[in-house]
Amino acid sequence: MKVTLRKINKTPLDFEIKSNEITFKGYLQYHGGKLILLNAELKGSLDTECSQCGEELKLSVAETVEFYVSDGLYEDDANIDLDVVESFNSVADLDELLNSEIELIKSDYHTCEKCENK
Ligand SMILES: [Zn+2]
Repeated sequence: MKVTLRKINKTPLDFEIKSNEITFKGYLQYHGGKLILLNAELKGSLDTECSQCGEELKLSVAETVEFYVSDGLYEDDANIDLDVVESFNSVADLDELLNSEIELIKSDYHTCEKCENK
């Protein structure tokens, strides 16, 4: 699902997409300047591997993500702490954003029950 950034205003725009067993549900809202706020819940389960033994692992996921999408290059020294993803085609590609969130979760350290109880 792709959303044109210019069409997003102060009224939250709800969305809900899925990737395998993960649901990404939330809203986009105009923040100010070039920034669009994205707030969403990531819920479901994810296939990954145990970081210790490599055994396949089903991870249950339930987390809230919040970051900003910038329409173009983001350069604002005053708000350097903001979590910003830049878009260079004026579009928020929600599937792509969801996939990068999933990759981020997968890259975390996870252990299976066996390794946990060692
Ligand atoms: Zn393990």
